[in-house]
Amino acid sequence: MSLDSTKYIFVTGGVCSSLGKGITVASLGMLLESHGYKISIIKMDPYLNIDPGTMSPFQHGEVYVTEDGAETDLDLGYYERFTNAKLSRKNSVSTGQIYYTVIQRERRGDYLGRTVQVIPHITNEIKKRIYDVANEDNLDFLLVEIGGTVGDIESIPFLEAIRQVRQELGRKRVMNVHLTLVPTISVAGEQKTKPTQHSVKELMQLGIIPDVLVARVDRPLSDEMKSKIALFCNVSERNVISAEDIKGSIYEIPYMFKKNDFDLITLEHFDLPVTKPSLEHWDVFVERLLNPEHKVKIAVVGKYIQLQDAYRSIYEALLHGAVANKAALELIKIDSEELEGCGVDVISSRLADVDGILVPGGFGSRGIEGKIATIRFARENNIPFFGICLGMQCAVIEFARNVCGFKDANSTEFDPATKYPVISLLEEQEIIAEKGGTMRLGAYHCEFMPGSRIRDIYGKESVMERHRHRFEFTMRYRQIFEENGMKIGGIYPRNNLVETVEIPGHRWFIATQYHPEFKSKPVNPHPLFKSFIKASIDK
Ligand code: GLN
Repeated sequence: MSLDSTKYIFVTGGVCSSLGKGITVASLGMLLESHGYKISIIKMDPYLNIDPGTMSPFQHGEVYVTEDGAETDLDLGYYERFTNAKLSRKNSVSTGQIYYTVIQRERRGDYLGRTVQVIPHITNEIKKRIYDVANEDNLDFLLVEIGGTVGDIESIPFLEAIRQVRQELGRKRVMNVHLTLVPTISVAGEQKTKPTQHSVKELMQLGIIPDVLVARVDRPLSDEMKSKIALFCNVSERNVISAEDIKGSIYEIPYMFKKNDFDLITLEHFDLPVTKPSLEHWDVFVERLLNPEHKVKIAVVGKYIQLQDAYRSIYEALLHGAVANKAALELIKIDSEELEGCGVDVISSRLADVDGILVPGGFGSRGIEGKIATIRFARENNIPFFGICLGMQCAVIEFARNVCGFKDANSTEFDPATKYPVISLLEEQEIIAEKGGTMRLGAYHCEFMPGSRIRDIYGKESVMERHRHRFEFTMRYRQIFEENGMKIGGIYPRNNLVETVEIPGHRWFIATQYHPEFKSKPVNPHPLFKSFIKASIDK
């Protein structure tokens, strides 16, 4: 399909946040793909940060990294896991980026003396970002999720821009979906439509008329409720979707939308033929997910454990790996700080009867010693261990201290004066002053050593995997490590950087400097997660 026929679906949110807009958009994208269409998705975030790369996980949850090294909102992770869309930095837009571009242009004198204003200059830049993605990717559908809640001051320019897109292209090329909440007042046991009415009114004041309302509900919307919402909010009754809370897994959400004809409503809106979706791979995954044959208990030992979303992609990738092994995943989340200074008895009681241990990525020294103690426990007790990014760096530190005999070995991130800087900064990183977007980011080539276990697991000589870190294994220690039993499994040949380490003879001890979790999908589980879970199940 050519640019002049790409259809646009804008998804806004009302009433409150955390209604699951990202998964709604990802599910609709996935359903449209199942009808044979080519789609892509953009997330537009109204905050002023250029990207979430500099935000604390407490503020933002996980920072998701795209193939081309953009640090983005974790919703992009859902988009990639649910669909085949190839996402890049163009798919993640923030107010900060928009203003930055416009202000740079103003400084260059590109506006030729005109007053630079929100309308049209900011809104034009927003529209340009939208049209550029449609243009370059030759899409049937471009879905655009507007972050935040309608009524927020920050999101107004984005809403104005999407209003203009509909004005420019016409109703047949644009569909507006609004996700709202229909709460149940527990004492009366009644569902209330007023917040939705207010939110739609707010949207209409901005010139946006929703075509579809997705109502988050804790129980199905009755026909009577649907017709009430339809009447007050100016949509047809069929286009009020009752999005019930899912008891099981998020991977069942596309079925809930399908049951509500969300895909067919969309096709009808655009006058496209109503076809039969093909969901075979997804069906196989969900079928296995719902009918596990055994159990696997994995401990994730990290610093941001209290936050549901800080290690989102890791939790999802573990689930994909478990389902691929027909296992039900039980996650034990342990705050590494709690293990600091604890003796082996405490650590072993906290980790008693776990089948495998994963230490994820992170920044800063808090909780490091707890991670190192955990890794020692996994290594010495032959428990499958998977280290990712900081998890690999901690595995290297642990091995240096307890096997190579380098007392107090450390990363220079935590102890710049350490006598044994087994993890350190490359010179090119040492001279960088700015924090945002300056890490080693995105996909790099990793070449595996002949005979390494990791090469066997991938069944490939090399791979591309995504990165987000500054510190590296210090190459001059390589020989000592290898002589003591920790092997380098893969390197980035161009700069001779260590990408993976492993301990032969251990049941499963592999750690990667890169983040394999970003590339795992339910229908295509990552080989390392699949293999780690398999080893954790096989006793
Ligand atoms: N803090 C470490 C580094 O910058 C690890 C980063 C991470 O785990 N993503 O190298």
